Amino acid sequence: MSETRLFGDHFLRNLQPEELAVVQRVRELCRSTFGPKAAEVAKQDVFAWDNFRLLAREGIVGTAFPRRFGGTDARQQLRIRIIEELGRVCSTSASIITGTDLSTRAIVAGASEALQEQVVPGLCSGELQSAFALTEPDAGSDVRGLKTFFRRVDGGYRITGRKKFITRATTADWFVVVGRAEDNPSTFLAALVARDAKGFGISPEVGKLGWYGVPISSLELTDVFVPDSHRLGAEGEGFSLAQDALLRARIGHAAMALGRAIGAVEIAAAYACDRSTFGKALGEHQGVQWMLADMVTQVESSRALLAMVADKYDRGDADVATFASMAKLQATDLCMKVVTDCLQLTGGRGYLQDFPLERFFRDAKLNQIGEGASEVHKTVIGRDVVRRARAAERNPCLREGSLVDY
Ligand SMILES: Cc1cc2nc3c(=O)[nH]c(=O)nc-3n(C[C@H](O)[C@H](O)[C@H](O)COP(=O)(O)OP(=O)(O)OC[C@H]3O[C@@H](n4cnc5c(N)ncnc54)[C@H](O)[C@@H]3O)c2cc1C
Repeated sequence: MSETRLFGDHFLRNLQPEELAVVQRVRELCRSTFGPKAAEVAKQDVFAWDNFRLLAREGIVGTAFPRRFGGTDARQQLRIRIIEELGRVCSTSASIITGTDLSTRAIVAGASEALQEQVVPGLCSGELQSAFALTEPDAGSDVRGLKTFFRRVDGGYRITGRKKFITRATTADWFVVVGRAEDNPSTFLAALVARDAKGFGISPEVGKLGWYGVPISSLELTDVFVPDSHRLGAEGEGFSLAQDALLRARIGHAAMALGRAIGAVEIAAAYACDRSTFGKALGEHQGVQWMLADMVTQVESSRALLAMVADKYDRGDADVATFASMAKLQATDLCMKVVTDCLQLTGGRGYLQDFPLERFFRDAKLNQIGEGASEVHKTVIGRDVVRRARAAERNPCLREGSLVDY
C-alpha cells in the first residue's frame, strides 16, 4: 500500500497478497462511503442497513465464516486490520463486524451440521442476522448470576428468562441464548432461538450515548420451546461457547478502539497544523507536540500488543484469552484517553456535533464496558499473574528461601 498515512502500514507486512487486497478494498470503501457518511449514519440510533448490506455484499461480513458456507474464514491478523480501518472512520461499521463475531461464533462453533447448513449461509451473505443474548438484569460482568433457565422437556427445552442490552435484537432473525439448566444450575447451555418463537418478546429499542446504528433492546422469554436440534454444543458447553464468542469480540473491540484512536490523532494533528495560536502553528508548541508524541507512541505500542494477540489466536495458543484481555483493556482505555485529549486539542471545534471527535468521544466509552468492563479484564489478568507467579522461575537475583524471611 503506497499511501502516506500518519500511522504506518508496518502491521500489514504479515498479510498475504489476497489479504492485503481485502484491506485495500476496505480502505476504498472507507474513503468513498463509510467515512463521508459516518456522521449521517450516526445521527440517529436506527440499524445501519446500508452499511451492513455493503459490508455483506463486499464479503467483509463473510470474513467471519467458514469457506464451506461462502465465507473466507479470515485470520484474526486480517480481521483486526479490517476493523481498525473501519473504526478509524465509522464505529457503526466496525461494530457491525465485531458484532458479527459475537453473534455468530457460537453458531459456527456449536450448531449441528444441519443447523449450520440452514442458517450460516444466510448469516454470511447478510440475508439473515443473529444476536447474542447473554447479559441479564442480574448478570452482566458476573455471568454466574444468570437467571435464564432451560427446562428439559420432550424433544428439547423450555427457556424462561430476561435478557438486557441485546445488540441488533430488533433486526436479528436468530438469537444465541445462553442460560442454565433448571435442574442443575451449574450446567450452562446455549441454544439458537428463532425470533418468531412462541413466548419470545423483544422490547422497543433503548436509547444510548453512542454506538448509533446498532441499536439495543431487552428480551423476555416465557416458556419458549427450543428443539434439541437447536442446542449449541453439548449440555454444559454454553459457557465455553459464550467465552469463545467473547474472545473474538474482545479482539475486535481492541481493534475498533485503536482504529478510533488513530482517527482521532489524525484529526487532531491536522488541526494542529492548520490552527495558529500565540504567533505559531498549534503543532509548533512543545506542549502540543508532547501530547501528540505520547498518543502516537502509546497507540503504536497498543497496535503491537494486539498484533501479537491476533497471531496467538491464529496459532491457537492456550494463553490467548489472557492476552486478549490485556489488549482489550489497554486499547480501550487508551482510546478513551486519546479521544479526550484530541478533543481538548481541537478546542471548541472538537466539541461541535459537526466535527467527528464529538462522535468518537461518545463511541469510545462503550469499548471500555462491552465484552467485559476494563476492571473485569484487570481481574482476569491479575488473577493469572498471581497463579503463574506461584509456579514461575525464581528471579536469579534472589537468594534461596522465603521472601518473608529475607
Ligand atoms: C450498547 C451495549 C451493547 C451491548 N450488547 C450486548 C449484546 O449484544 N449481548 C449481550 O449479552 N450483552 C450486551 N451488552 C452488555 C455488556 O456486555 C454489559 O453491559 C457488560 O458486560 C457489563 O455488564 P453490566 O452492564 O451489567 O455492568 P455491571 O456488571 O453492573 O458492572 C458495572 C461496573 O462495575 C465495575 N465492575 C464490575 N465487576 C467488577 C469487579 N469484579 N471489580 C471491579 N469493578 C467491577 C465495572 O466498571 C462495570 O462497568 C451490551 C451493553 C451495551 C451498553
